[in-house]
Amino acid sequence: MSKIRTRFAPSPTGYMHVGNLRTAIFEYLVAKHNDGDFILRIEDTDQTRKIEGAIDFIYNTLKLCNINIDEGPNNSGEYGPYIQSERLPIYQKYAEELVKMGKAYYCFCTEDRLEKLRKEAEENKVAFLYDGHCKKLSQEEIDERIKNGEKYVIRQLMPKEGVSVYNDLVYGEIKVENKLLEDQILLKSDGYPTYNFANVIDDHLMGITHVIRGNEYIMATPKYNLLYDAFGWEKPTYIHVSMVLGEDGQKLSKRNGDASFMDLYNDGYIPEAIVNYLVMLGWSPETNEEIFTMDELIKIFDPKRISKSPSVFDIKKLNWINAHYIKKLSIDELLKITVPHLKNAYDLKDKTDEWIKELVSIYQNHISYGKEIVEVTDLFFKNEKELDQECKDFMNQEGIDNTIKVFTSEIEKIEDWTKENINSAIMNTKEKANAKGKMLYMPIRIKVSYQMHGPELPDTIHLLGKETVLNRLQK
Ligand code: GLU
Repeated sequence: MSKIRTRFAPSPTGYMHVGNLRTAIFEYLVAKHNDGDFILRIEDTDQTRKIEGAIDFIYNTLKLCNINIDEGPNNSGEYGPYIQSERLPIYQKYAEELVKMGKAYYCFCTEDRLEKLRKEAEENKVAFLYDGHCKKLSQEEIDERIKNGEKYVIRQLMPKEGVSVYNDLVYGEIKVENKLLEDQILLKSDGYPTYNFANVIDDHLMGITHVIRGNEYIMATPKYNLLYDAFGWEKPTYIHVSMVLGEDGQKLSKRNGDASFMDLYNDGYIPEAIVNYLVMLGWSPETNEEIFTMDELIKIFDPKRISKSPSVFDIKKLNWINAHYIKKLSIDELLKITVPHLKNAYDLKDKTDEWIKELVSIYQNHISYGKEIVEVTDLFFKNEKELDQECKDFMNQEGIDNTIKVFTSEIEKIEDWTKENINSAIMNTKEKANAKGKMLYMPIRIKVSYQMHGPELPDTIHLLGKETVLNRLQK
């Protein structure tokens, strides 16, 4: 069997939402599971959407996700160029060939005429399909009109009868009536190909064996198959994948600022965790396990287990998986994803590196993503905070004032500010104020940190410092 080759074919928009990234991961896993090659191809035939630096952005994103590109614009490879705008003569040559074979034709219809047809279709409440007006032009007329400088496109000639059938690895048999297939444009008047043409030419010339892409292409694929057939080329295996929807059930979009990989990364999500989450979104392993490294995924990935139904991007689930990865970070890695956010939010001028390190490490098991460090540590930076009702009710109980009073005097006595001494102060309070369990810890915690939950009490108190703790206890 020939080597498995898959490709990721993004448009260079300078943005990658999690749905696109998930497709790239699936493509990568199918290739690597079979010791195959993963190719990056840039689909920039819509020049109006092009953005400076977008290719580097795609490389950065894939690199962060540990997805290694075997061939692409910045790699070597025998199938280049890997940027569609650099392949225009190739598409032009194949389009002309189709015309010669009688499988495509020149079309001179003006935008005005097409607009009229579209309006008519709309009025009659039918889907607009080009009416084939130009397919009957004689060779003389074509030559004449080209000589006169008239603009033209090349359209694919579709069969008008019969049914096209193909097999999708996820969706099974797909049938489309040929009369629903439009004589689609292959080559635009500016010499650029459409996606509908370029994807076939490139997938064939680049030796792609498995085409994995969003299911918005599922009904158009019979048109692509007709092109493969016209050239006598072998068709790839198709794996269409369902969409990733936003929590509102809508398609993810750049405009809505939806779940972009870079936004998540910048908020201190860990690429391995994002990859892990995205694979589990719309794909399931044979076991109930949910945490996988890339290497493990490569070993077990089977595209037949990709789900047909759309998945919803669930930030809570991502948080859960990400928290799992955060717990395993080294202190340096943890500092990297948290400190920039702390610096952004708070004045750290008079904090030592040691203090920051201690702060971040006591919250390692308490945060789901890097930026969350800001909200959970605000008690260290704000000397005033309104208590919630639960705290207020707790503090109204009998005996609490005495516990605080005893603890305050124990704290005052500490000369060497260590966690051990702080712990002894708590133990002494337990005895002298005769308070235990919740009635011992909770009042102290609420008083010094304004909340009922958090890391170990001696850790928190140690980091706050004696002066701040006394101030808060005496308030
Ligand atoms: N450029 C296309 C897209 O971003 C690629 C689709 C495909 O993978 O064939 O939708």
